[in-house]
Amino acid sequence: MTNPNVAVSDTQSAIAMAITAAAAVNNSSLFSPSPYNITLFSRNKFPKSIEAATAGKNIGWVDAMRASSPTRSSSENNQEKKDWIMKHPSALGVFEEIMSAAKMKQVVIFLDYDGTLSPIVENPDQAYMAPEMREAVKNVAKYFPTAIVSGRCRAKVYNFVRLSELYYAGSHGMDIKGPSSRKHKKGNQNVLCQPAKEFLPMMTEVYELLLEKTKGIIGANVENNKFCLSVHFRRVEEESWNDLADRVKSVLKDYPKLRLTQGRKVLEIRPTIKWDKGKAIEFLLESLGYANSKDVLPVYIGDDRTDEDAFKVLRERGQGFGILVSKVPKETEAVYSLQEPFEVMNFLQRLVTWKRSIMRSH
Ligand SMILES: [Mg+2]
Repeated sequence: MTNPNVAVSDTQSAIAMAITAAAAVNNSSLFSPSPYNITLFSRNKFPKSIEAATAGKNIGWVDAMRASSPTRSSSENNQEKKDWIMKHPSALGVFEEIMSAAKMKQVVIFLDYDGTLSPIVENPDQAYMAPEMREAVKNVAKYFPTAIVSGRCRAKVYNFVRLSELYYAGSHGMDIKGPSSRKHKKGNQNVLCQPAKEFLPMMTEVYELLLEKTKGIIGANVENNKFCLSVHFRRVEEESWNDLADRVKSVLKDYPKLRLTQGRKVLEIRPTIKWDKGKAIEFLLESLGYANSKDVLPVYIGDDRTDEDAFKVLRERGQGFGILVSKVPKETEAVYSLQEPFEVMNFLQRLVTWKRSIMRSH
């Protein structure tokens, strides 16, 4: 996938368009650089989007939004999918193989929430996880230190998961807290890390402004995730997306210390500090006492762009691996893949069975 002349499918084109358009709408400091390798795609396919977007018309922006939540079936291009699966095998398909490396190591589990443990739903307040999934996470946490790493605020993601034995990293890792019950003796349990604390008054101020500015747009939903504000497009009619994006940008132009990123039908506003899910997992591994350990195998499972920072950290450490949850081929730093939350649940269940069998054999 590093050959720039490779033919790209519609899905890839759509993703490329999303990335290119998002980068183009980046009138100076509003957007953070994309973590994706956009040189893979032919940029000159989308000059109109770029021009329109930079002219402030947001045409590329709408394409980006549409493409960020792909609805196309993978059957549209089976060969492309086969190639992608060869490159990022199913973590269930190669389970025994990948876990054989973990026998003598401490496995640490990092889990994104939305789209990983819960399905993506119309109303983000109703992104509940299934009881079976909660059970699977609970069982995993009996054997392995387990952290939820989410874009949502810590309190909100805790309310969905409701397992006190886990670590929680909310607001894309900017608000980290250790478990309230003690399961694992190693490392510091009383973890609390808020690297962007001084931004809190600003975030509250911008939240109020966004509420005010977006209230005329039907379906727009501004979510206060403490260190990250999310403007959801999911329930907004497509013809109003440009208007909504414009309104969000008009608020942000007065706040150069905040940056705007785009997720699956969501715009997110965060402090411009060098902190992301990747930094969060490094912090957690250190807190757990595994900063320089060779005996640790971190596994990170996530479905969105922001999870790429974590996948990248694991690649760079040469320790553990990322698993991308996706039904469609995507450029990713993850090593393995799973199709949907149901497969994530199966993977977690197999981890528990695997660990129990190892414990029995010793
Ligand atoms: Mg997610």
